[in-house]
Amino acid sequence: MSKVILQPSGNKDARKHYEDTIQNPVPIEVLSEYLPEETLDQVKTFYLDGLVPTWGVTPGKNNVNVSKWGKIQTGDVTVFSANGQIFASGVVVMKLRHKELAEKLWGYDGSGQTWEYVYFLDEIKQHNIPYIDFNRTVGYADNYIIQGFNVLREELSERMLLSFDMKSAIYLPDVSPEEYEEEVLLFEDHDSLDTHRTGKGRKEQSFLRKQLFKNKKVGSCGICGNQYPVDLLVAAHIKKRSKCSREERLDYKNIVLPMCKFGCDDLFEKGYIIVVDGKVLRNSKKIYTPHLLEKIVHIENKECQHWNDSTRKYFEWHQVQ
Ligand SMILES: [Zn+2]
Repeated sequence: MSKVILQPSGNKDARKHYEDTIQNPVPIEVLSEYLPEETLDQVKTFYLDGLVPTWGVTPGKNNVNVSKWGKIQTGDVTVFSANGQIFASGVVVMKLRHKELAEKLWGYDGSGQTWEYVYFLDEIKQHNIPYIDFNRTVGYADNYIIQGFNVLREELSERMLLSFDMKSAIYLPDVSPEEYEEEVLLFEDHDSLDTHRTGKGRKEQSFLRKQLFKNKKVGSCGICGNQYPVDLLVAAHIKKRSKCSREERLDYKNIVLPMCKFGCDDLFEKGYIIVVDGKVLRNSKKIYTPHLLEKIVHIENKECQHWNDSTRKYFEWHQVQ
């Protein structure tokens, strides 16, 4: 589950850092002097423009910040606050401890510490959320003031992220295969789960999306083959999820494929297109209007790249529905 990181930034140092390395992100050339090649290659895949919004925290008194920073994961959302409001947010891409980099970017604070617990952000958004709205959302007293770097616990984070629509469609929290399995077992009640619309099964969706998109910004639709930003693609079950056995749902490498929201997802789900021997075809059992045919003609006869010996049985199930 994604968490919210509270990052009050009203003091002089923080205001300057926000300006220096968030508003004006760090060019990748600067990072290249400090990061190992492997890390740098990873960073490059996320920042196509080569500009990396960067933040860091000091160890703090008695290392108070270290364990908090330790909780930060990809997909968490940092909220920056000052002057009675949350004014910006950003999604965590990755983190690393790097004293020399911190020294270069921000120098040292009054107590001789530097902001060496570094994390990189993306999807920086501006907000105008008064503290009172934040407090009421997470259940704090009306007069609470965000103070100090902190990581909200999952349940409160979830409320916050949903209320203010801050979740990333690209950077997803890590879900292990074990957690996925646990989630699948948890929601055995097939018909009550609609993963697109309810809060349930979010871990399952996160896991499936991560398998398909691996934190990439762009992906290909498994039906039409067109490339789209990943928030326009869904992780669609070939065999209807509610009809899958437990074993089939655990077969996550084969049971889902990416489908675009420009028709393929719905056309497939409702059976207007089927995949036979690897080819996208019309379904003779369905009624087609001229306008619908206009759409289908663009995808008909395309080769489905996800059709293979392991996925075939699911496509065959789908054909006869
Ligand atoms: Zn498509």
